[in-house]
Amino acid sequence: MSIKIENVSKIYNTQKAVHNVSFEIQKGEIVGLLGPNGAGKSTLMKIITGFIDSFDGDVFVGGVSVKKEMSNLQKEIGYLPESNPLYEEMYVMEYLTFIADVHKIPKEELIYVVKTVGLTSEGHKKIQELSKGYKQRVGLAAALIHNPKILILDEPTTGLDPNQLIEIRELIKSLGKNKIILFSTHIMQEVEAVCERVLILKKGEIVADENLRKLKEQEKQVIEVEFDNQIEQRLLDQLPSLKSTTSLGGALWELTFDTKEDMRSEVFDFATKNELKIIQLNTKILNLESLFRELTN
Ligand code: ADP
Repeated sequence: MSIKIENVSKIYNTQKAVHNVSFEIQKGEIVGLLGPNGAGKSTLMKIITGFIDSFDGDVFVGGVSVKKEMSNLQKEIGYLPESNPLYEEMYVMEYLTFIADVHKIPKEELIYVVKTVGLTSEGHKKIQELSKGYKQRVGLAAALIHNPKILILDEPTTGLDPNQLIEIRELIKSLGKNKIILFSTHIMQEVEAVCERVLILKKGEIVADENLRKLKEQEKQVIEVEFDNQIEQRLLDQLPSLKSTTSLGGALWELTFDTKEDMRSEVFDFATKNELKIIQLNTKILNLESLFRELTN
């Protein structure tokens, strides 16, 4: 099973929400769809799940076009919409039994899902009495009840407290072992905590599709330093882990290191050894966070 998004575009009246987006996700992949508010994440998810059926391009689930076979494909897809709409007046088990009945799912399977998402102890409560984290589990249970191969989760951790956040992230990770999961977020750390791959969406377009492990290996540290005297570039080669140097004019240099270790003390030692004084020094890490800022700014 795979899911393939092919040249998908969506315009609401005159507002371009998604523009020519293509990517493919294979079984066992958890992919983070990252982008600032208004980037088009929800629109893309509504297209994949059939909630928006008028769009350009196509989505293929296991090679079958959603434009042709959405009603058949819906059983392969579980969807947790952004606002997690629930019938607050209903009891947890009452609501989930209702959803299970819609999908013609036997009681034992419902109980299994309730246990998987850690809701067993809350089943007798009204949904409105639940904490935000437990409400989110009800939404997840509803999305999972028919054992779909694909899970589309729109901002599943928004509004959770730090403990709930960790629990829901762990749950998503464990579910991802034998499903396809696409989940949206506007928080980079969320992607780092949960997935192996990130798609970055900006103004409706994919601006990055990256393996997180590879990205992390590329993390760099940049130090901007000004000495009290001009020096020759070759002197800087004494610095360990130095990847490149750029002269910013006068005695101001930009030094790029391919290490995550803090290199400031090395730069100070270098200055002392070469009888230089440091006038100013700024450091920045080029990591996933800065990549996201750079790409979406
Ligand atoms: P995200 O989920 O990344 O915040 P959305 O997909 O919700 O982004 O929105 C993408 C763009 O489309 C935004 O500019 C938003 O205002 C616009 N948009 C979303 N839904 C509608 C709609 N139903 N009608 C008109 N414009 C919409």
